[in-house]
Amino acid sequence: MNCGLLDPLRVCREVEAAWRVGAVPLNAAEGFIRQIIGWREYVRGIYWLKMPGYEHANALGHTRPLPWFYWSGETDMACVRAAVTQTKQEAYAHHIQRLIITGNFAMLAGVDPHALHIWYLSVYADAYEWVELPNTLGMSQFADGGLLGSKPYAASGG
Ligand SMILES: Cc1cc2nc3c(=O)[nH]c(=O)nc-3n(C[C@H](O)[C@H](O)[C@H](O)COP(=O)(O)OP(=O)(O)OC[C@H]3O[C@@H](n4cnc5c(N)ncnc54)[C@H](O)[C@@H]3O)c2cc1C
Repeated sequence: MNCGLLDPLRVCREVEAAWRVGAVPLNAAEGFIRQIIGWREYVRGIYWLKMPGYEHANALGHTRPLPWFYWSGETDMACVRAAVTQTKQEAYAHHIQRLIITGNFAMLAGVDPHALHIWYLSVYADAYEWVELPNTLGMSQFADGGLLGSKPYAASGG
């Protein structure tokens, strides 16, 4: 049922049509379509394939409580402080802040991925569980043991 939300396939076809008539460059159209089909829809598929149960995945056995500075922003680590402070003010942080700053720190510190999942679900304006949970448990924490991603981000060269 479509209750008025944008349909992803229709959006991608509209973008393709815009490229075909020369209204947008190929790299912009390709990048947008890849994010929608290659990530958004992939993430959505993982959620509906693996829930319920996925939310309790903890392949690395991490149990440390979420540090209080995720809520307060009070830490001497400047990047974490900036990301959390912006999050408190705007209910938004861009992808790399979520993945490489707050996400990677939590994974390296051994934070319980379910506690981190509750934090992401609570603080972001765009947080709906079907998209937040695979991004947090799978992409950011490797808590699903490599179902969504191929290796922990801390192990990548990027
Ligand atoms: C730990 C963590 C938690 C996240 N929680 C959420 C969340 O609660 N809600 C949310 O919408 N996104 C979440 N994301 C994914 C990502 O951060 C946002 O989709 C992205 O910041 C949107 O920015 P943009 O519109 O500039 O994306 P662009 O890079 O311009 O991509 C275009 C569109 O593709 C889709 N897209 C791109 N990357 C992803 C992705 N990894 N997962 C799903 N869709 C994607 C989005 O619809 C996005 O608007 C999370 C990522 C991480 C690492």
